[in-house]
Amino acid sequence: MSLLVAGTTALDSIKTPYAENPRLLGGSASHAAVAASFFSQAHLVGAVGEDFPKKYINLYRKHGLCLEGLDHRAGQTFHWSGEYEVNMNNRRTLDTVLGVIEDYSPTLPSNYTKLPYVLLANIAPDVQGRVLDQMKRSKFVVADTMDLWLNIARPAVLKLLKRIDCLVLNDSEASQLVEEDNVVAAIPRIHKLGPKYVIVKKGEHGSILSGPNGLFIAPAYPLKKVVDPTGAGDSFVGGMMGYLASQRGSVDKNLREGIICGSVTASFCCENFGLKKTTKIKKADISKRVRELTRMASW
Ligand code: AMP
Repeated sequence: MSLLVAGTTALDSIKTPYAENPRLLGGSASHAAVAASFFSQAHLVGAVGEDFPKKYINLYRKHGLCLEGLDHRAGQTFHWSGEYEVNMNNRRTLDTVLGVIEDYSPTLPSNYTKLPYVLLANIAPDVQGRVLDQMKRSKFVVADTMDLWLNIARPAVLKLLKRIDCLVLNDSEASQLVEEDNVVAAIPRIHKLGPKYVIVKKGEHGSILSGPNGLFIAPAYPLKKVVDPTGAGDSFVGGMMGYLASQRGSVDKNLREGIICGSVTASFCCENFGLKKTTKIKKADISKRVRELTRMASW
């Protein structure tokens, strides 16, 4: 089965203490859709401007993404710049230029509206809502968000939470959403806002799933060196959703394995800038790390 991935299709300028990389392919939907593509066909929903390089379109194509839902608009592509400290858990946004997504309201191609798996990657919550309005047969809807939207569009985030099956967010966002510092205590309060499943990401320390079967504690794949963690969260949820869309049976049955696939796909993302590493790996590289991680985390 295939899935829909909506979010930002961006140019990212990323600074770390060791290097600087301008105008890389980035955006929540780019990372998530490429990660998903190792498991299922991803149907991309996003908007790019006239400055979006052809070579990035070719990269999308190389990963078999369906691009019918990619809007080519007059103006500038969404551009995000960020800077990392030596401790890469600390990141600062230097600049965000909305460009063509400022007044973006996606209209989905009709074949997209019947897709069963829907990933609303990080973008303004009212845009996520508009995508969802058009979906007719969704089986599992997952949304991601970020601190910015909790700060400036909280009512729209709360409205969206009532319409989705699963919310994926990091630990600081979970605390911010329900004003509770302890993640384990925050989770039941997030369920009360709507989603049946909640996944809290904790960077290099893995993630926690909470759902009808209780908690699942998932590890991250241990890396000796992180070059650039930008997009790791999007790769995590993209890999997870790609896996789910590739499997038969219930989401409940497949979700734990999906989270491990997402965790491993995200590990590759961290090993080079932007999508440089993820666009060079093969499915077999992911499968090998899944086996390693399964051995490391079993007893
Ligand atoms: P992550 O590292 O998983 O938080 O995702 C980083 C990606 O999010 C980058 O590729 C950015 O282009 C994208 N991004 C940054 N700010 C925003 C925003 N306000 N809305 C949507 N996507 C964003």
